[in-house]
Amino acid sequence: MKTQFVYHFTEGHKDMRNLLGGKGANLAEMTSIGLPVPQGFTITTEACNDYYENDSMMDSEMLQEIDHALAQLEVEQGKKLGSDQDPLLVSVRSGAAFSMPGMMDTILNLGLTDTSVKGLIFSTQDERFAYDSYRRFIQMFSNVAIGIPNDKFETILDHIKNEKHYQDDTELTSLDLQEIVTEFKNVYFEETGSAFPQNPKEQLLLAIEAVFKSWNNPRAKVYRRLNDIPQTLGTAVNIQAMVFGNMGKNSGTGVAFTRNPSTGENQLFGEYLINAQGEDVVAGIRTPQSIDRLKEEMPEIYQEFINITQILEKHYQDMQDVEFTIEKGKLFMLQTRNGKRTAKAAIKIAVDQVNEGLITRKKAIRRIKPNQLEQILHPTFDPESVKESTQLTRGLPASPGAACGQVYFHADDAVKEAKCGKKVLLVRQETSPEDIEGMVSAKGIITARGGMTSHAAVVARGMGKPCVAGCTLLSVNEEKREITTGQVTIKEGEYLSIDGGNGAVYIGEIPMSTSSLDDHFKVFMSWVDEERDMGVRSNADNPRDAKQALEFGAEGIGLCRTEHMFFDEERIPLVRQMIVADNKEDRIKALEKLLPHQRDDFYQLFKALNGKSCTIRLLDPPLHEFLPQDNDSIESLALQLGISRVQLEKRIKELREFNPMLGHRGCRLAITYPEIYKMQARAIAQGAIQATKEGVKVKPEIMVPLVSIVEELRILRKLIEETVNAELEEAGITLPYTIGTMIEIPRACVTADEIAKEADFFSFGTNDLTQMGFGFSRDDAGKFLSDYTEKGIFEKDPFQVLEQKGIGRLLSMAVKLGRETKPNLKMGICGEHGGEAATVRFCYQQGLNYVSCSPFRIPIAKLAAAQAKIEKQDLNSNRNN
Ligand code: PEP
Ligand code: MG
Repeated sequence: MKTQFVYHFTEGHKDMRNLLGGKGANLAEMTSIGLPVPQGFTITTEACNDYYENDSMMDSEMLQEIDHALAQLEVEQGKKLGSDQDPLLVSVRSGAAFSMPGMMDTILNLGLTDTSVKGLIFSTQDERFAYDSYRRFIQMFSNVAIGIPNDKFETILDHIKNEKHYQDDTELTSLDLQEIVTEFKNVYFEETGSAFPQNPKEQLLLAIEAVFKSWNNPRAKVYRRLNDIPQTLGTAVNIQAMVFGNMGKNSGTGVAFTRNPSTGENQLFGEYLINAQGEDVVAGIRTPQSIDRLKEEMPEIYQEFINITQILEKHYQDMQDVEFTIEKGKLFMLQTRNGKRTAKAAIKIAVDQVNEGLITRKKAIRRIKPNQLEQILHPTFDPESVKESTQLTRGLPASPGAACGQVYFHADDAVKEAKCGKKVLLVRQETSPEDIEGMVSAKGIITARGGMTSHAAVVARGMGKPCVAGCTLLSVNEEKREITTGQVTIKEGEYLSIDGGNGAVYIGEIPMSTSSLDDHFKVFMSWVDEERDMGVRSNADNPRDAKQALEFGAEGIGLCRTEHMFFDEERIPLVRQMIVADNKEDRIKALEKLLPHQRDDFYQLFKALNGKSCTIRLLDPPLHEFLPQDNDSIESLALQLGISRVQLEKRIKELREFNPMLGHRGCRLAITYPEIYKMQARAIAQGAIQATKEGVKVKPEIMVPLVSIVEELRILRKLIEETVNAELEEAGITLPYTIGTMIEIPRACVTADEIAKEADFFSFGTNDLTQMGFGFSRDDAGKFLSDYTEKGIFEKDPFQVLEQKGIGRLLSMAVKLGRETKPNLKMGICGEHGGEAATVRFCYQQGLNYVSCSPFRIPIAKLAAAQAKIEKQDLNSNRNN
């Protein structure tokens, strides 16, 4: 069957977003439910892909379909493109399946030429309006379709405004605008060597092509990478009859959210400008008015608008972000989409909508992106320190959260300085899509211009970065790299702090405090907990972290890295004594001194956990990591240990390894020095006994790291069992404990059936499994992995997001083999991937019993686990239907 490349708005519906893009599908949907939408047609995402497959050419069938659709639109509108009487003007907008704010480009007023501008004057009897539209079109077209920098045009505009002492664009007269049009056309000629296209059809095709091309511009690629949007989807193009918000005082244009996108409050939230055209509001060039003012200025339109937003929210069952234009007192809807929102707002809206009966709990759970929760878990400023700080200025609270850093004025600099480890605040007059990488690198963003829906605000909110926009009192000089306000000048590299929740900008660096989680969040997480059936534990190495983890809702400790206890000031000398001992006797003496400390560690941990499971991993890193490297420290350690410097250096040399991560570490240490694990096993048993005696329930799970062959585990299991049992016997106490292993070496995965014979549980150490599965050193891969992601070899860094095809297959093989030996073998994951949403989903699908991650990521892991379960249920019920 012939592929249909073009759909009229009357042909589509909202579920066609893959083909029509989000914008196109929703324009069609709004048309189908009878809302006032200027008509038009959508060129599909398949057409975009076809264009790329066809060596960046539109094939003849596509061109024919465009012709037909255009002819149909001309008939409907009773206007003709390029007419010298009553010309049809159109907008050309991109629209991918997922909304990508600011990533793609829009052209308005297409169809204006030296001839049709006369037609527009004729039909509107408004010369000023016609030339205003023409100059806007020349600039947008030249910039978007041809790539001529905007400032070439802005300079001309500013020059004329200055010359005439105008404050505002609205003061430009028709004659001024005609002069501007001529000058703009000259710019076009100078930049391209040819005259500005006077054939509207040619304009249209160039614009469509520009949208196709913009799918692959670097900014769009970065955005897709950051938001997990496949690079292969392609964008649709929407051609829509123009309506004008710049036709005088009874015209205007605006954007609105059906609920507050920062707080989630159920109240219309938006901005508009009278006598302005579409892009003026989002571009942040003029500061818009709050939507509430529309109630006074145009009460009937306001009421109609309210009704429409309510219809849309009910229809889509979600908060909507809409664009509208009022042309001479008539309201038109130009766009609707599910509104981007802060995590805090997302949770409140989801909970409220469940309570309002609009959506189910499951839908609420599915709607929140797990990674978005990072936002609410972000720190805020310490209130006491804020009181003592000096406020530099105040802007709009564009995206909540606190941030401080050194100010940089260009995106490139922000990227560069952040790479050097600096905390950076990006300060811009206003941001544009070119700044995206700088925004990613920055801790927060400040802009001097722009409203709550400006580029900076929308993008920062999506990223969960604090942003203060529209600081109109700041004079930002990007060239001189400084900000001035009154007498104060802040230069590049100096510190500022911002509170995106209230719009304050402070001088200097303000300390942060942890976030407090509100009631909506608690309710939401309780629903998540009800839904979820996979456990979520935390990685924690001490009682303090364990308590924090429990506060975040951890169901136990999935990994306690005992070596972290060794770095304590009091213990490190004892650890070093143990390491430098060159005979067993001396080593045991040192270990005896460490024992009470470790016993207390475990006792405290058990108490903090109060009956929850606790996986304690025995010593893992290579011993030399505990020894000093520089001369001064070696000197003082030798003194401390009462041995000669030469002796100590000799021992350090002996311990040095070429590849320590593949060397004498993990269970291999205990094969050589069983006394180390023996001391740790005793400490665990004694700590557990002490806690039990005090009535605290304990559930130690003793874990052996880096096992590659079952014999290692067999030997060490015996050692641990004998040691623990002896302690329990002596104390006359019985308590449940288990002995398991980490699975983090490929050989362990492929022989997991054998290893399972000696293990009560498996915990996947996916950091090492990734290292050893790929043969990428964990310590060195950072230097070259970015080349892999840039070249598209990896979508994501495999140390952050589990690489499922290879490393995931190893994991899945181990699960299968392990459970062939022991069908109920408990399994979890404790590598860094355990708090990463896509990995959690994968682990659920593989049948793991729990994931374990850092305390701050627990809610994320829980949500991902609940979503994975709902997804499975949905899949099963679809199968059964
Ligand atoms: C792992 O390898 O995934 C793990 C959890 O252990 P570590 O990071 O301590 O090597
Ligand atoms: Mg490991």
